[in-house]
Amino acid sequence: MEAPAIGAPRPDSWMRVTPLGLYCEPGDFFIDPVRAVDHAVVSHGHADHARPGHDALLATPETLAIMRSRFGAENAGRRPRPLPYGESVTRNGVTVTLRPAGHVLGSAQVVLDWRGSRVVVSGDYKRAADPTCAPFEPVRCDVFVTEATFALPVFHHPPAEHEIARLLKSLTVFPDRAHVVGAYALGKSQRIIKLLRQAGYEKPIFLHGALWNLCALYEELGIALGPLEPVPKGLKRGHPPILAGEIVLAPPSAEATPWARRMADPVTCAASGWMTVRQRARLRGVELPLIVSDHADWGELLATCAEVEAPEVWVTHGRDDALVHALGLRGVRGRALHLVGRDEDDEAAELPVAEEAAATEPAA
Ligand SMILES: [Zn+2]
Ligand SMILES: [Zn+2]
Repeated sequence: MEAPAIGAPRPDSWMRVTPLGLYCEPGDFFIDPVRAVDHAVVSHGHADHARPGHDALLATPETLAIMRSRFGAENAGRRPRPLPYGESVTRNGVTVTLRPAGHVLGSAQVVLDWRGSRVVVSGDYKRAADPTCAPFEPVRCDVFVTEATFALPVFHHPPAEHEIARLLKSLTVFPDRAHVVGAYALGKSQRIIKLLRQAGYEKPIFLHGALWNLCALYEELGIALGPLEPVPKGLKRGHPPILAGEIVLAPPSAEATPWARRMADPVTCAASGWMTVRQRARLRGVELPLIVSDHADWGELLATCAEVEAPEVWVTHGRDDALVHALGLRGVRGRALHLVGRDEDDEAAELPVAEEAAATEPAA
């Protein structure tokens, strides 16, 4: 890589960790702040990164659309500014460029350049192909800021196509059972649907109400998902079980609840990187664990840190100890930031309890 410019400022002299998140001092803006601020750059639409109520807000057009859909236009930045991938804006001498992160639709790495020093804040990212979003683009930098959700050697995510094939196989083995797949509303659901379509599954896929708006938005933004149907509501008590032999997508909170038990002998599936851990699958009552993750696994984290050639890597959250240690062995200086407010599960904070309760009320 280009050597840092002579006299370039040390990254930790202009990028600071604050209780609200990472703060760029000369630019006077936060990246993914946990509360509403005057100037925010948001990497992607997940709840632990995108918060309502910012004043000036910079994000990709897709992320802004996702935030509008979730928070309403009035709460998705009073002064939103869409910044497509590869374009730059400069604020107080700091140039901000967004590059694809490969995590969910619109997800971006935030590339910051100031006086010859470059910091890349990757947000959440993965390297595996995802038919619903642009692939991760490595950017050489002086400091690479990474998450470490799956930063242990035990985490090796298999190809998602392989996991989808297991789901389709189960449908042929159990044609009289509904297959209820727990998947997050933003990104994971649409990826599962798209992968099913690519595997040749053309039947309608049934959606829990909490997934509907974001699937519709993905369609609007050009990601075709094929025929989708709402799960029927308001069934009378004693109604025969529904959706035998069908695939149903639901948020992870709903997959093993009375809502799901209205269905024909449901096979509870869950699509998550955590399904590598059998104990977690058992605790959640998951019969068919599908290892599909929108985060980098151990190998991807190390390969990415090597590719961006940063002499220093800052780790936001997750298994920072393991990653910092492994980077040290490779001659890279690692630093744990211990950012607050990041979830190990995307969107763990916003489970749609209300909908679930409504769906399980005994019908008159
Ligand atoms: Zn995320
Ligand atoms: Zn996150």
